[in-house]
Amino acid sequence: MDAQPNSPEARDILYHLHAYTNARKHQETGPMIIEKGEGIYVEDSNGKRYIEAMAGLWSVGVGFSEQRLVDAAMRQMSKLPFYHNFGHKGHSPLIDLAEKLVKMAPVPMSKAFFTNSGSEANDTAMKMIWYRSNALGQPQRKKIISRKRGYHGVTIASASLTGLPNNQISFDLPIANVLHTSSPHYWREALPGESEEQFSTRLANELEQMILAEGPETIAAFFGEPVMGAGGVVVPPAGYWEKIQAVLNKYGILLVADEVICGFGRTGEMFGSQTFGMKPDIMVMSKQISSSYLPISALLINDRVFEPLADESNRIGTFGHGFTGGGHPVAAAVALENLNIIEERDLVSNAREVGAHMQKRLRELASHELVGEVRGIGLIAAVELVADKATKAPWGQPGALGGLANGLLQQNGVISRNMGDALAFCPPLIITKEQVDTLVDALKVSLDAAAAQVRG
Ligand code: PMP
Repeated sequence: MDAQPNSPEARDILYHLHAYTNARKHQETGPMIIEKGEGIYVEDSNGKRYIEAMAGLWSVGVGFSEQRLVDAAMRQMSKLPFYHNFGHKGHSPLIDLAEKLVKMAPVPMSKAFFTNSGSEANDTAMKMIWYRSNALGQPQRKKIISRKRGYHGVTIASASLTGLPNNQISFDLPIANVLHTSSPHYWREALPGESEEQFSTRLANELEQMILAEGPETIAAFFGEPVMGAGGVVVPPAGYWEKIQAVLNKYGILLVADEVICGFGRTGEMFGSQTFGMKPDIMVMSKQISSSYLPISALLINDRVFEPLADESNRIGTFGHGFTGGGHPVAAAVALENLNIIEERDLVSNAREVGAHMQKRLRELASHELVGEVRGIGLIAAVELVADKATKAPWGQPGALGGLANGLLQQNGVISRNMGDALAFCPPLIITKEQVDTLVDALKVSLDAAAAQVRG
């Protein structure tokens, strides 16, 4: 790109290393700079407006201009801009939020613990699980099972739980003690003629075989997102969580529900665990907890986790874990207000109703020549593109068609994200049916343009 010297674009290239970006290519292409947001829209530095169909990073539930969150932040900032929860200390926003989350939980939970990101929360979950095994006198019980295509973050432990190659190649990950079982992606991975129930049974059997081969007494926990997000929006097939949980229960293995994307309404219930009948021992939440206006994340733990942890901390003298910014008062105040808004405006019902409309409208594209599968639930969906519908073969390199369509869609005023060849849609929970129609119309035009290039 021809950035003017000293322009934001030129300075970005000079000074800024981007997350999840090809750093060499960025020196050529430069950034897309977003200047402001309103409702479901954002505007770039050229004044072009987009529907933010990813809610930022699956997270801005209440939209980009919620004044009540600004006011909540300002009130707390003036009263007490910082305090912490080390050494028995605390503050009101943190206590209020802990109580709110424990009471909101769909299964009995005991305590909330606060962190700053989804990755930190999953790291913390893993440390708590190891600590618990030691407390129970089972030091051999340290292995964690997660899934291929699962996404749990990028710290050393959470990137190890993540089951995506880009998060591990050249980072010398995963670390020891993390095992990956198959992803529940029915459309890609089911055998010919296999029903969803049969596929789920096969995956549960595979999990049990893995547990038996490793030694059940060595397996501490299973981590899973109710619906996989960054792995391509994979909705579990019929019976999946029920069968997986039956295996975990048989061997006394903890379940961690990573609700970082699904939590607070995304799937049409308050939590993905409710949508899929999951009974987790630990729930990990972030993103929509504060609509990402400020970074904050939390874990809810039940007494199966809390009680041994309390004993162990008593034996050692302290629970030697915590973050300076964990439960930050301003972030906690914003999260509380955000959860109040989600409840008062019944955005969960909106996710269910407008979500049903979005799923229906997107499925109308299933007959498009480039569309292999449309999948999703509530206000989260993916449209997976293929060059050949019969063989599900990609167009050239995997991801090339997804990248092409995503670029065209952006030109047509909608920000999505292609995970390989799957275009994801996860708009703010406040989206209306009319706005969904605009989004789907833009997608159709973009797919037609992509088809012309592919066939041309
Ligand atoms: N878990 C899930 C399910 C996620 O989607 C994400 C982020 N996309 C994370 C964990 C990691 O969160 P963070 O980026 O805040 O570390």
